[in-house]
Amino acid sequence: MTRLDFEEKSQMGLTSDTLALDSVGPTICVGEILVEILATTVGEGFLASQPFVGPFPSGAPAIFIDQCGRVGGNAGMIGAVGDDDFGRVNTARLEQDGVDVSGVSIDPIFPTGSAFVRYRDDGSRDFVFNIATSAASRFGWTPNVAALANRSGHLHIMGSALSMPSAWAVIEKAARAVKARGGSISLDPNLRKELKSTEDTKERFRQLLRMSDLLLPSGDELTGAAGVDGEEAAVARLFELGVREIVLKRGALGVTCFLSDGTTVDSPAFQVEELDPTGAGDCFGGAYVACRRLGMRVEQALTYGCAAGARNVTVRGPMEGAGTLAELDDFIKKTKRIK
Ligand code: ATP
Ligand code: MG
Repeated sequence: MTRLDFEEKSQMGLTSDTLALDSVGPTICVGEILVEILATTVGEGFLASQPFVGPFPSGAPAIFIDQCGRVGGNAGMIGAVGDDDFGRVNTARLEQDGVDVSGVSIDPIFPTGSAFVRYRDDGSRDFVFNIATSAASRFGWTPNVAALANRSGHLHIMGSALSMPSAWAVIEKAARAVKARGGSISLDPNLRKELKSTEDTKERFRQLLRMSDLLLPSGDELTGAAGVDGEEAAVARLFELGVREIVLKRGALGVTCFLSDGTTVDSPAFQVEELDPTGAGDCFGGAYVACRRLGMRVEQALTYGCAAGARNVTVRGPMEGAGTLAELDDFIKKTKRIK
């Protein structure tokens, strides 16, 4: 495998046609829309009364699509909220950031989904989720959703959404609609220990993996998705399955993009003070997919993705640090990279 470093690759002006261009139609994302309520102290769980801050708009698919819209990508969200202020916090933010919310339904009975989050000393998180029994999981293939999916150019799939039967049904139909009109698909495995993975969800994941053009794993998700050990073997296996581009997220160690022509592009992380790591991967993905679809070269899109992830961790709240292109340009100018 040819390994080119970041500067060499930049000089080559590498381009790739992995994803359908923005003009084909919006990037859509399906799944949970939540509010996050964040403990302001570090510690273990929620067994004692404690201070919180929030509600913040959240949910991995919503964070992804918000960042996508915020950098100027054509973007649409599919999901549901309750008829309450937690729902309005979300729809208002998405609309403000340019996301089409015609595919977001308002459940008349169930409340908006929520996630209570508290960080531990070692950086791990405890969650109390209300997703399955909230509006977040109560959506389906409505005429509005079908209309949005039938004019979209790209589907981004969050693995975390696959545990919801309602999302699975919509994702499967949306994937077929997008592919039928020459669109593309990206997949972020986004596995969470709190969200149960059954044989059924694993099989759904494998089916979607075979339809995906771009995979956005973080850490062990690369070998987990491929089902083989070792980075190089996993990448080779995923290309055999039909994936054409893989961007491996490594937190503060940056990212590596593997292209099916055998080349590899590394992009270092930006040096920041991490205040709240939630949403980094989703912001990276939203910015990366939007920038690629806007016609940017791999290395430029990687830079914007890394900037979006890094900027987001400097602000408390899962999507509070999502940046516009101008904000990301400013961030890139002012921030050193970790070499
Ligand atoms: P998540 O926890 O949201 O699921 P992830 O594991 O999918 O995240 P990360 O690799 O943590 O994804 O973050 C994506 C990108 O954001 C990183 O590749 C990096 O460029 C940037 N990033 C994340 N955390 C930091 C950090 N502490 N410092 C600098 N950059 C960061
Ligand atoms: Mg992730």
